This record gives sequence, C-alpha cells and structure tokens, in this order.
Amino acid sequence: MSINDIIDIKQKNVKDIIRCVRFNDGLTKKQIAEKTGLSFSTVSNICNELKEKGVITDKNDGNYSVGRTPKVINLAYNKFFVLCLDLQLEGIIKMALLDLRNNIIFQYENDNVDFADVYELVNFAYSGFQTYIKSHDISEDHIVGVGVAISGVFDRKEGKIGSCMVPILEGQPLKKIISDVFHLPVYVDNESNLSVLAAQLYKAKDDYKDNVIYLYIGEGVGVGVISDGTLIRGENGYGTEIGHIPIGNMNYQCRTCHSYGCVETDLSIYGFVKKYTGRFMGRKEGVVKEWNNFICDVLDNKPEAMNVIQENGIILGQLVSILVNLFDPALIYMGGVIAPIYDKLYPFIIDEVKKRLLIPNDREIMIECDENSDYTIFKGSVERLLNMWDPLFAIT
Ligand SMILES: [Zn+2]
Repeated sequence: MSINDIIDIKQKNVKDIIRCVRFNDGLTKKQIAEKTGLSFSTVSNICNELKEKGVITDKNDGNYSVGRTPKVINLAYNKFFVLCLDLQLEGIIKMALLDLRNNIIFQYENDNVDFADVYELVNFAYSGFQTYIKSHDISEDHIVGVGVAISGVFDRKEGKIGSCMVPILEGQPLKKIISDVFHLPVYVDNESNLSVLAAQLYKAKDDYKDNVIYLYIGEGVGVGVISDGTLIRGENGYGTEIGHIPIGNMNYQCRTCHSYGCVETDLSIYGFVKKYTGRFMGRKEGVVKEWNNFICDVLDNKPEAMNVIQENGIILGQLVSILVNLFDPALIYMGGVIAPIYDKLYPFIIDEVKKRLLIPNDREIMIECDENSDYTIFKGSVERLLNMWDPLFAIT
C-alpha cells in the first residue's frame, strides 16, 4: 500500500468520524467506532489528533459515578466556519458565514454595485468578509473554505464559468480567482446542484433520498438532479442544464444562447415580468420592482397577473413532466423567487404533470416548495466544503 493510499484512508476515516459527531454530542469513542464501523484504536487515535487541533473536545461522561469514566466527544462545531457566497445576481453578493451545524453567524447582501470586472467583485467580497469576521472576532484560520453559488455552469474540464446569467463571470476561472484572493479552499457550483444536495440531506425522508430533483427559478432556470444517489453532472458539468429546451414562447429570444423558445426565457423573473408588463426589462430598467408588483397582483388574484400564472404554470408543468419522465424522481423541490406565488402556480403544474405521467396513477408525484432557498444553497455549500476539509491540517 502506497503512502498516498494510507493518507487517503486516514482522510476518509477523519471525515467519517466528523460526520458521525457533527450533529451528535456526547458519543463515546466506543459508540463512534460502532456507528462508523472503524476500529476503536483508529477512532481513538484520530480523536486524539483532532483534539490537539481543537476540532473536537472530550470530557468525562457525567452518567458514570464510579470506576473509570469514558470520555464523550463533542465537535467544536461553533469554532469552524464556511463562508458562502451567492453570486447569482448581477451586481449583488449574498454572503453568509455558517458554522459546522449550519447556524448562520452573519449574513449580508450589498446594494447593487456596478462591478467593472470579476476581480473587482471578488475583492469587494473579500473586504466585506474581512470586516465581518473581524467584527465577530473570528480568525481566518478557522474558515474551512469558501462555497460559491453561481447561476451558470462550472465547466469541469476548463475550470471556467459557462452559460452564466452574470456577464462579468462568463468564461472566468472564478474558482482560481477566489482562491488567489481568499487563500482558502474554494468550491464553485451551480445553485441548483448545491440546493439538491442540501435538500437530499436535510429535507427528503430516507425513502426518497436517492432520487431528488431541485428546480430553481430566479434569473434563469436551474435544475439539480440526484438520480439513484448520484448527482448528475455529465461529461463537462453541463448535465441537466435544462433551461434551453424549446418549450417556451417561440417569439422570445434567449439572452444566453440567443435561440428562440428557451424555457428559461419564459420562466425566469424576466419572462414573468415580460408577460405581465409587455416588455423585457433588465435589472437597471427595474425588473425587480415590476416583479414585486406582479407578486402583489397575483396574491390579490388580479386577472392580468393570474393569466401569467396560468401560462407559466402550464410551461412549468411541462418542464416538470420532462424531468419526471427522464428521471422518475421521488421528490421534486421548487425554490428561488417563485416561493411566494408557488401555491397559485401549483394547480397548473400538477395538472400538466399528471397528463404526461407514465408511472401508475396511484403513485403521487411529490412536489414541494422550498420557502428558504437562500439557506438551502448555503447549506449545500457547507456540505461541499466539509467534504474537502482536512482538519488535521487546520490551525487552531
Ligand atoms: Zn437559451
């Protein structure tokens, strides 16, 4: 066995132990060994090293009053943090720092900034990060890494961003740029891939965990698919990039691929607002304000707004029926900006899906709305960074 194999095995064992104690306080080394399937001596040795690094603490178990008292292990979950950057919106950085139990330490969103280029954006994020960790008295050494959500694709072969809704990120080696500025491990992924991972772990019941889809509606339309337990990525990372299938309005031109009829053009906030106001408008022309007006009118059941709900609900249902027929998921989550109007869209969605359903009718297709998709994205980022974390090299 090579030295690299031995290191790999040890790193896997460390991850297994951390995963075991992450949400469970008070386990003894013996209990951790039972739960992880590792030997007691392996658990004991790694726990000793992790304790030296400040990643875990041990203390005497208060349940034993006589004899040799076994120590219980607790993860120092509130000493280590993941920085999450959500860069889906042009000109806006949503930033949050989460501890290892997904508690939000701080959350921040800037007012719209006209960033000249990706470097200006990343440096702006870094200076905000510095200010916030200082004000919370957190050392940079305790940051596990940076998880970045984008509305686009992280091209696995090129290491660059593709098909991105934010022009200054298109074609950029974003992961490298952020690593160079933050000097931390970085993970970049599409918002839907991060969301489906968190939905699988934290929302889906055990029976449904292996086949979950997350459909994200925002600046674009993103889909994350876990099929038979595996996140679908494809050869280059563009797998499940479904926003450009031509089931939308054939008079609308897609601003990403420039074709006509892309479903993303109908179902993004730009598409909803176009159908509601009669014109396409960008952020600078006030799309967000019109979107908010639209939501108010939907909630008031105003006919002109409800017509848009019907038209887009049917298209959304057609999109979901494609996903259902491709992947036979147990559960579909919908998140993003549509949460406030989801209940109005749902009857049209489910009606379309049922028409095209091939699986027996007695099996319900479970579609649920994720009310807090920002947090879901953050939690997905934490998972990815924890998976990369090598705490035996962490500085305390
Ligand atoms: Zn397109």
